[in-house]
Amino acid sequence: RKQLVLHPLVAVGLSGPMKASGIMVCVRKRPLNPKEVAAREVDVISLQPPNMLVVHLLRLHVYREPTLDHQNFCFDRVFDENCSNAGVFNYTARPLIRHIFEGGWATCFAYGQTGSGKTHTMGGVVEGKNQNVMDSIYAMAASEVFSIIQEPESAERNLSVGCSFFEIYNTKIYDLLSPGNKQPLRLQENCQYQMEVMDLIECPTSGTAEVLALLNTGNGARALGKTSANEKSSRSHAIFQIVLRSAISKETYGKFSLVDLAGSERAVDNFSSNSQTCTESAEINKSLLLLKECIHAMGRKSSYIPFRDCKLTQVLRDSFIGKNVKTCMIATIAPGMCSVNSTLNTLRYANRVKELKVQAPVVPPMPPLTAQLSKVLESDATEKRQAA
Ligand code: ADP
Ligand code: MG
Repeated sequence: RKQLVLHPLVAVGLSGPMKASGIMVCVRKRPLNPKEVAAREVDVISLQPPNMLVVHLLRLHVYREPTLDHQNFCFDRVFDENCSNAGVFNYTARPLIRHIFEGGWATCFAYGQTGSGKTHTMGGVVEGKNQNVMDSIYAMAASEVFSIIQEPESAERNLSVGCSFFEIYNTKIYDLLSPGNKQPLRLQENCQYQMEVMDLIECPTSGTAEVLALLNTGNGARALGKTSANEKSSRSHAIFQIVLRSAISKETYGKFSLVDLAGSERAVDNFSSNSQTCTESAEINKSLLLLKECIHAMGRKSSYIPFRDCKLTQVLRDSFIGKNVKTCMIATIAPGMCSVNSTLNTLRYANRVKELKVQAPVVPPMPPLTAQLSKVLESDATEKRQAA
């Protein structure tokens, strides 16, 4: 009987956290959900913390035993299905908060297909229920800001904190803190030569409770655009910004943008017969592509950053062009075999964001197969033996 031979195909982007380029790329795998468990979905992602990830590509054959291919990836950090939002926050957004207190600009964004856990991670709200906003990266980041601002060193700087929450849907910017107002907002450079969303509400805040109330308002407004057939939140980018300002001059001192991106499957799926869906997909496609290009250019310290062509990169412009900028990407992935193509697309995008040279293929130790995958292989082999 032919032995299964495990071939790690590629291992790319081997490096430690937060390089000189200021870009950190992490991956979070969500657990199988009850529906997937009921449908006997197979978990095909195994992780070897802190930074290795293997995608098992299971191929079932009619007359032969199943075969497995493996694609290895290496990121700054990988988080498994048991990791809490607080665990993810500690390694991703938290280090960036010190950075904005040093006068820097930071961005943390979640990228992944719809249903992979972006909103669960960033906004702590799912399916319109605000059950765990406290446990979201948005809220934890704000809470960390309020704890640092009380340190004597920060007190000397005399800073105030403001929060905004808005979404970009189909090239238009809507304020999520002003749900009654359906007017799109304009973008303009202000007198500090910074890109500013005109008339965007920036609520002065002094404690986590106030931020939670804002998040509830914003999440509520985001959920309003949702219908059972077509979830708007998967087609818009939501941006929560924490702005540090000098309490006297009101000039921006540091800014943290936390972004829950539109579902990345829209970037590939643009062959819909519906013209509105087509426009949306094309726009999402363009914005996700440009986001990657801007991060590349920023990492290379290039003088040309292609942020002009879409609202998402225009809004984040100052987080790309400044000298003192840091970015963290959280790629969220679903574990199931049915989502494996989207998962591979997400992992490839994450690899390209890092833009580290592809290293010579290495053969790292193989993490054990997931329990379900081992079971499938075993039962398939048994069936075939019995049939023979
Ligand atoms: P997305 O925003 O990427 O479309 P969601 O954040 O809405 O995805 O997540 C889809 C579903 O999966 C939600 O019901 C959410 O509770 C669940 N989920 C996502 N990530 C996790 C996780 N890490 N642990 C537990 N449940 C999760
Ligand atoms: Mg979402």
